Amino acid sequence: MATTELSDVIGDWVKSRRAAGVAPHDVLEALGLQVSQEAAVDESALWAMVALLVEEHRQRAQPRRRLATADGLTAVVDLVRRSERIMVVAGAGASASAGLPDFRVAAAASAHSESPDALFDVHHFVNDPKPLYALAAEMWTGKALPTPTHMFVRELERRGQLLRLYSENIDALELAAGIERRVLCHGWCASASCIACKAAVGAEALRAALAAGEESWPLRCAKCTHGLNLVKPDVACFGEPPPPEVERSLREDLKSADLLLFIGSDARVHPLAAVAPALPRDVPQLLVGRAPPPREPHEADALLLGECDEVVKWLSAELGWTLPPPPPAAAAAADAEHADGGAAAADPAGPAPAKVAAPAFHEPNKFVFASGSAEPPTESPRAQTPLAVPGPRHRAHGGRAAPRE
Ligand SMILES: [Zn+2]
Repeated sequence: MATTELSDVIGDWVKSRRAAGVAPHDVLEALGLQVSQEAAVDESALWAMVALLVEEHRQRAQPRRRLATADGLTAVVDLVRRSERIMVVAGAGASASAGLPDFRVAAAASAHSESPDALFDVHHFVNDPKPLYALAAEMWTGKALPTPTHMFVRELERRGQLLRLYSENIDALELAAGIERRVLCHGWCASASCIACKAAVGAEALRAALAAGEESWPLRCAKCTHGLNLVKPDVACFGEPPPPEVERSLREDLKSADLLLFIGSDARVHPLAAVAPALPRDVPQLLVGRAPPPREPHEADALLLGECDEVVKWLSAELGWTLPPPPPAAAAAADAEHADGGAAAADPAGPAPAKVAAPAFHEPNKFVFASGSAEPPTESPRAQTPLAVPGPRHRAHGGRAAPRE
């Protein structure tokens, strides 16, 4: 059977299951994505996830062809200049220069944890909450500064060109940068909630507890007087669904984006793995990162290969933009506390941008900066992406990347 026909069969099968009253949990599991039965999830969000999976399969069966509109550096710069609704997908590369610890290192450094995976396992958390608190304390000290890459996204937003930032990182530096149109797809370390009743603990209370050290860990829920009243930092763990705003925002944005920009992520982890395949095929896609993805689920129209900061500095200079400096660390922390209150505007009078050498030409759509590589990495990219937390599917099924074929 041709794979395109198979996509239709899967689509029909999903419809029939739904009509028969089968729970979306079970349909997702059959498609290779396990969502914890205990997770409090909106069923419509799960059905939307099923639809994305089916669409992803359909697109894999008939791969998108690279558009020629991004051939050449001038075309790439023009594309960024004239796009009005840019969807940015950012991963570990966006935070690479922020000086935050590799979570694996943090995990290894913790005397409590056996493995990085255990760190993001709710059952381990229940047995021993301290490693995840230790990670949150490392990540969210309020001392780390947003990188030039964050400030580039902030500049897109200031210019009215940012549709939304989807981040795989948990360091909350998007907020510190003052980016308001953002979705943190794997949660973050800057707030926490009760694992039983989901009551939120404010950023201030969490930060005070993190600063006070492990004697004050874990926090306990004040509302739950008995049973499991543990408070967990709001980082997505194994089997937990993405925050509901991910699906909600994707549903809107996939219809209106006019440019998809990957920065420091090749979005191979759900829920963002579905973005590129689900986007209309005539919407250009650019990828900024150290190296091309080892296995391309889709073909970006242009690859700008190098450290993200180096690439965005070059891009900004070409656009004639001056990136604002990051807000001071204290302000960053204060902004995070008032996540919904709007962040302070960055000082537009930043230092003159440093001169970045133009990248080397490889192909009409492939350019390599001094810090980049034209070859895909040989080792697992996960090992190089310290701040991005693997998504539920990756964790639940050892990284199976696509529905069964
Ligand atoms: Zn509670």
